[in-house]
Amino acid sequence: TAKQRGKGNWVRFTTDLEQPVYADARLGGDLRRALDAGEFRLLYQPIVDLRDRRVIGVEALVRWHHPQRGMIPPLEFIPAAERTGLIVPLGRFVLRETCRQAAAWLTEFGPDALEKVEPNVSVRQLHDPDFVADVRAALADSGLPAERLVLELTESAVLRGPRVSQVLHEVHDLGVRLALDDFGTGESSLSLLRAFPAAMVKLDKSFVDGIEVGRPGTPETDARQAVARAVRQLAGALGLEAVAEGIENEEQVRQLRRLGYTTGQGYHLGRPMEADRITELLAGQRRAAVA
Ligand code: C2E
Ligand code: MG
Ligand code: MG
Ligand code: MG
Repeated sequence: TAKQRGKGNWVRFTTDLEQPVYADARLGGDLRRALDAGEFRLLYQPIVDLRDRRVIGVEALVRWHHPQRGMIPPLEFIPAAERTGLIVPLGRFVLRETCRQAAAWLTEFGPDALEKVEPNVSVRQLHDPDFVADVRAALADSGLPAERLVLELTESAVLRGPRVSQVLHEVHDLGVRLALDDFGTGESSLSLLRAFPAAMVKLDKSFVDGIEVGRPGTPETDARQAVARAVRQLAGALGLEAVAEGIENEEQVRQLRRLGYTTGQGYHLGRPMEADRITELLAGQRRAAVA
């Protein structure tokens, strides 16, 4: 036990979700079972116009409601789903469910209520030969117009392979938009932007954190703000939208507005929530518009 090994011997008690490859086979089976049992559910986080605070879109974020473990966050199973290939059927579920829900909101609230829905897509899914057909089918079966779907892809060097590039252009040709997620954290941000048919970049939370700390004119504060400003200007110059992620307080909203951001997302503006809660938000916005 940890005690017997004595002081200073760090023993890590991992759950088997965190254990390496040999656990993947079991986890792969567990993920498959969970998918068939309907244990994956989507939450939706508002994407907000920073000027008038209207909800203009939502990001879909998957959760695993495990019968014994309770709610499991995506970072604890997405990597294993990617390694085992289960991300392909799981991602297909996320895509179809997001489109179905978005089409329902479109029917209930009309075309001006919610511009877009944004599921996350793993690069691994782009290597699946059926990916483009799946996207097309998710749109056709739900009736959601392609321009209301935005696929979020985490920027990574892997996005630059010729095969992946081909797939992204095919999806783009359907009228679906692409967002570079966690922008600024990858090693290839700038060169990727040239090759990638992106419509928007999502400024990573790490560049929003602390943006409001200190005083303008002090080197540290200026440096933090310079990155956010530069990303905003680069996006603008390339004709891309820039969205700020991970906004946790009002002062960050103020600073981001000052740096030219008009769209943002974060706990301060709305946590990831059940679809019903988004429906209530949209109903509230409709009442406010009528009043
Ligand atoms: P992401 O796509 O960058 O999503 C944003 C994450 O930041 C979400 O975590 C969200 O809940 C969290 N977040 C949003 N606002 C704030 C804030 O103000 N403060 C803080 N501290 N966090 C905030 P979540 O839901 O745990 O998802 C983590 C990551 O898992 C996502 O990062 C995405 O990369 C991945 N993911 C989630 N759902 C899916 C999915 O359906 N498919 C794939 N392939 N990946 C997914
Ligand atoms: Mg995302
Ligand atoms: Mg992100
Ligand atoms: Mg992220």
